[in-house]
Amino acid sequence: MKDFYNKLPAIIQDVAVSLAGLKQKRVRYDSYFRQVFSAQLEREKWSEDQSLAFQNLQISHALERAASTPYYSKLFESIGAHWSELCDDKNFKKIPITYKGSVSENPEAFKTRSTFKSDKIISTSGTTGKSLVFPASKKFDSEQWAVWWRYRARFGIEQWTKCALFSSTPIVPSHETQRFYRANHAYNEYRFSVFHISEKTVSSYVESLNKIKAPWIHGNPSALSLLAKLMLDHNLKLGHTVRWLTIGSENLQDWQEKVLIQVFGTKPIQHYGLMEGVANISQCPNGNLHTDEDFSFVEYIKQEESDNCLIVGTSFCNDAFSLIRYSTGDIATPKEGRCACGRPGRLVSSIDGRFTDYITLAGGERVASLAGPFHSTPGLSEAQIYQDHAGALTIRYVPSIDWDNRNLISLEKKLRDRIGNSLPIRFQIVDKVERTPRGKAKLVISDFTPE
Ligand SMILES: [Zn+2]
Repeated sequence: MKDFYNKLPAIIQDVAVSLAGLKQKRVRYDSYFRQVFSAQLEREKWSEDQSLAFQNLQISHALERAASTPYYSKLFESIGAHWSELCDDKNFKKIPITYKGSVSENPEAFKTRSTFKSDKIISTSGTTGKSLVFPASKKFDSEQWAVWWRYRARFGIEQWTKCALFSSTPIVPSHETQRFYRANHAYNEYRFSVFHISEKTVSSYVESLNKIKAPWIHGNPSALSLLAKLMLDHNLKLGHTVRWLTIGSENLQDWQEKVLIQVFGTKPIQHYGLMEGVANISQCPNGNLHTDEDFSFVEYIKQEESDNCLIVGTSFCNDAFSLIRYSTGDIATPKEGRCACGRPGRLVSSIDGRFTDYITLAGGERVASLAGPFHSTPGLSEAQIYQDHAGALTIRYVPSIDWDNRNLISLEKKLRDRIGNSLPIRFQIVDKVERTPRGKAKLVISDFTPE
């Protein structure tokens, strides 16, 4: 099927993409979705107390559902508790954390019932580790899309607003040399390839963007910042105003934000979410990141030897599959206080990357949260830490126009403050940092396993 699609002319591929979009639109955005969406909008006006009461009720439903799965029924038995005894906060925290490995090893054990025809099969790729395949109920799909549209609505982005989308889904064939997007007319969406962005193609990208004139650009920060940097290098500009720049699926690094603002003339807005649906965090117009408390139960669990917290979540909406206290592997820094916008939800000051973004010292000690030194270094377009088999570090970086070589001295010092002096560090200028097969740039790539 893919081979057949790849051989079609671009304009016919647009038709194929649009027809698939139309079919998906009918199923996804039906009357049930609209009902879920308006209920979510209503809950955004709730007081903290109302929000908390709703959350407690959802936690008890989630525990009851979990008790019908082989995995959690056994787990609850092992801690000697009936599901109903685990609803209060203190007992809930006695439930051991569920890791992705246990789920991907035996997903059957997490199913609450047999699969329905209306269930969707979701496959998470994950930049590290194993993939996970699980069923998601119709309710889950609707709640998840509604929570994303609620966040967009806060900024005035309505459904079917014309969007230039930079997506990891490969719908532009790899042999394409002319037009690096395909149109999904059903969604008013122009899906640009993140895999074709280069020195050679950047002018064609800008030409297409200028023809389409989408007020909304959405994509992952690695792709958009690469495009922005190439536009700067080649002195290429957009001929229209971008009203919204939304980013997702990766953490936004400081150097990426700078180049995005410079090129697109607007501050990127962001949310955090994952396919498993155990946690969702959305920005508000005040710039604060709010935990979506009505979507799932999120715990920020403080990690030893670090200021960061691991994001652990319990899903409310998936009737087909249970995840209780599931470790996302992502880290965040919670923030005290409430937001003046009045929306409920605990605040987070930053989402700080994957818990697996760490380097390992010779003694086996791990050092995570290494983005800080790079954020405070001016003139960087991109950076990545590579740790080789022997443990040595190579800092790969892409300098921008205002780069000054003396910055390396202070950067090395800031890194040394965190990792000490035991590992050699060298610096290497590259054209772009290594991407994962899905086109994302990771801060740390490590091939080192100490003895
Ligand atoms: Zn707010």
